[in-house]
Amino acid sequence: MRSLLLLALAAAVLGGCGRRGAVPLSYDPPGSTITTSKPITKPARRDWSFGGIGVTNSYDGARLGALEAVHDTLLIGSIRPENAPINNSAWFGFKIWSSAPRSVWLRLEYTAGDHRYVPKLSPDGRTWESIDPASFRIDTTGERQAGVMRLELSSDTLWVSGQERMTRHWFADWTNLVGGHPDATVSELGQSTYGKPLRLLDIGSDESSKEFVLIISRQHPPEVTGSHAVVAFLERLLQEDRLAREFRARYRTLAVPLMNPDGVDDGHWRHNAGGVDLNRDWLTFNQPETRAVSDYFVDRVGSGTVRFAADFHSTQEDVFYTTSRNLKTNTPGLIDQWLADIALALPDYVVNDDPSGVDSPVSKAWFYKTFRATALTYEVGDEQDRARIREVSRVGAESMMRRLLAVPR
Ligand SMILES: [Zn+2]
Repeated sequence: MRSLLLLALAAAVLGGCGRRGAVPLSYDPPGSTITTSKPITKPARRDWSFGGIGVTNSYDGARLGALEAVHDTLLIGSIRPENAPINNSAWFGFKIWSSAPRSVWLRLEYTAGDHRYVPKLSPDGRTWESIDPASFRIDTTGERQAGVMRLELSSDTLWVSGQERMTRHWFADWTNLVGGHPDATVSELGQSTYGKPLRLLDIGSDESSKEFVLIISRQHPPEVTGSHAVVAFLERLLQEDRLAREFRARYRTLAVPLMNPDGVDDGHWRHNAGGVDLNRDWLTFNQPETRAVSDYFVDRVGSGTVRFAADFHSTQEDVFYTTSRNLKTNTPGLIDQWLADIALALPDYVVNDDPSGVDSPVSKAWFYKTFRATALTYEVGDEQDRARIREVSRVGAESMMRRLLAVPR
């Protein structure tokens, strides 16, 4: 009786949370599902100097095109995407300093997009904070929305970026760290367009296990909040408690936390080095990243069973893009149990469930059609509180482990 009541409560919570109909910031521009390679413009790495102010984009994860000083307290930077048309995820990143303390106004103007991200500031490229809201606004008066920020400069370098900088090297360090766990291994399953490694984190203590969970993330370079979530999710699977140990003893989790290392390092808005949205390539597999990962998963799973698959992304608000409930998975009811567990564990968190079919060429559809897995696109809001992101993801990982351990073998 109690569990029925809980389920009814959860259904009421879930039923009230759909926000379909909102106009998404993200959209598919014409041609995005044609995934043969398209030309891109490689970022020109360079330094600028204006009367004591220094600026550089010469590092991985940066994006800043032209920069001009209108006068000594106003700079105008221009930001272009790797190619266009493109989804509006207007990434920017640069370092700035001044020989003497001063404040400057910096205006970012965009081609083929509008300002999207609240600027994040860092003294060292590792610890980040959102800019003081009083020092930032979006100027909507022009044809394209510009970002205007006031920056307090000193001789210490200030990092300015759309989101925290989590590049290929960040992922390599993190993967090596968590991969040091006795129940984890790290390997290279393939290579990106530029030949960078696509790294697999393989979690589980039973080599012969035939039950799998598949996790991918960061197909879209600016989607750093999705990376915060995937990191928390995978770290929870490696925790030293009974739940995680039992889960690792039964299931193998195959995770590719960084699907698009070229795009991330070159500060792309959306695409890989082939100029393509990787999450529209899960039908034709024209790009090396999607091809390598899908081939590996199919080969590795073999005659086994994939029970749960998630692809972590970011958008303007938290939303779980699940599959329509009339599509039968190999673990019936799992997705509703999972969503209900999160709703019940975090009563002040709005669980946004947005189910759809599996006709589009995205990873979620491929996971379902290939394995009949419970599959979702796990979207995290751009400006969602970082501690909240980790909390939701940990609760999601715990629910998944508990529910999958309850599935009859
Ligand atoms: Zn995305």
